[in-house]
Amino acid sequence: MFWADALVKDLSGPQRVSTGISPSGPIHIGNMREILTGDLLYKAIAKRELEADFIYLCDDMDPLRKVYPFLSREYEKYVGYPLKNIPAPEGSGKYSDYYLDPFVRVMKEANIPARVIKTSDLYDSGMLAQACDIAINNRDKIKEILETVSGRKIEGDFYPYEPLCEKCGRINTTTVVSYSYPYAEYVCKCGYHGFADVRRAEGKMPWRVEWPAKWFALKVTVEPFGKDHGAPGGSYDTGKRIAREVFGIDPPVPLIYERIILKGKGAMHSSTGLAIAASEIMEVIPPDLLRYMIARVNPGRHIDFDPGMGILALADELEKLQDAYFGNRKGLDEDQTAMVEYSLVNRDRKPYPVDFRHLVTLVQIYRTEDEILRAVRMSATSDFVEADFRKEIEYAKRWLERYAPDSVKFRILPVDHAVEVNDNDRAILAEFMKDIDAMPWNSESIHNKVYEIAEKFKISPESVFTLFYRIFIGKDRGPRLGYFLFNLGRDFVEERIRNVISGH
Ligand SMILES: [Zn+2]
Repeated sequence: MFWADALVKDLSGPQRVSTGISPSGPIHIGNMREILTGDLLYKAIAKRELEADFIYLCDDMDPLRKVYPFLSREYEKYVGYPLKNIPAPEGSGKYSDYYLDPFVRVMKEANIPARVIKTSDLYDSGMLAQACDIAINNRDKIKEILETVSGRKIEGDFYPYEPLCEKCGRINTTTVVSYSYPYAEYVCKCGYHGFADVRRAEGKMPWRVEWPAKWFALKVTVEPFGKDHGAPGGSYDTGKRIAREVFGIDPPVPLIYERIILKGKGAMHSSTGLAIAASEIMEVIPPDLLRYMIARVNPGRHIDFDPGMGILALADELEKLQDAYFGNRKGLDEDQTAMVEYSLVNRDRKPYPVDFRHLVTLVQIYRTEDEILRAVRMSATSDFVEADFRKEIEYAKRWLERYAPDSVKFRILPVDHAVEVNDNDRAILAEFMKDIDAMPWNSESIHNKVYEIAEKFKISPESVFTLFYRIFIGKDRGPRLGYFLFNLGRDFVEERIRNVISGH
């Protein structure tokens, strides 16, 4: 059974899937695993016809922990401020929105229907007031759980609440000295002495308490999270005890997912700057492909993300599955069927008329989108939505510009460009020319012709391919030859080969 279906198969009653992020920097492709895993679980629940809800919590009350490498030194003065109270690195908005907004657009494009909720709004609306009150009244119990499970000693008087200093604006420099609902009395390192109302966004619970408090207040039943939270003694371990023993609820069904590793670079972290922003990657990877990349790997295993050749390999794989899915479905097992279904943004049709690899060839042959469209219409076997296809063309162009390795890039040589060939090469080319007018002009027959010639000359097909690549793009390797020559057009191919044979 597909992993998302397996995880939700025994659930009953209404379900709420929760995911989230602390928007401290660019939301990167690694973070896509959180929300897409949540989305797959949400869709798996919906498939079982249980009532389902899906939320994405933006922890904008979290403080800026340090000046990250991608920030200017100016931000030193904001360390300790809640992210929502810090100006954006550019423009006039908030820091937290600056990083959240592009990601919300990504969610829309990738068909992720999560409701985005800001943690500050949960506090400000009083939704977390009861949880704050329960937590503070059970502070000794919570302290004991945190110390026992995490193995770390907490010094001094412990209050699971961090007031936001009214005077200096910091949330990590205050200490609670007394509490009487709804007010937490605090002192701050800046010298201020004040009161924070737990019914408003005047403070927050520390992460390890806030997390189970959200489960309690929002009735979360399913939650995917990264392995840092899931480590022994980590915040899920403390969270589930706090959930049961303090809030009197069952913790959500957990799903721990592994990291996405950027090929040759390591795990992505927004704090170090080693990351590709999700919004950037969504400009080069079609959404179905991104969804497939997450769906195809069990969450317990890491994903090697290679934005270069890896994308092409992934696209080939998905293409095959989609062909089978929209065809007779022979050879598709249950998992593969589920993967295709969960990756499709639109279940009714195959997303694009041309696979990504071929499109990468087309955008290098033709100069304009309209030429590509015309070419594809001629060979398309089914109807397609032009607007969608134009989008795919943009993906392919941007991928070529930004991530494609040189091995897949080429330029067509002019029809009269001089190339050195020997007599044997000429004989091979002449053999090809002999039948060129009579043969059906399509990828398959061109491909077969090359194999025929190789057999006749008792040489490897690869050496014939190489000869053609040298003539047409001046390289030893190139795109799939049948498809490539077909798109160059019979007339151009004929004229080019004639010129090469005659030495012009
Ligand atoms: Zn202060």
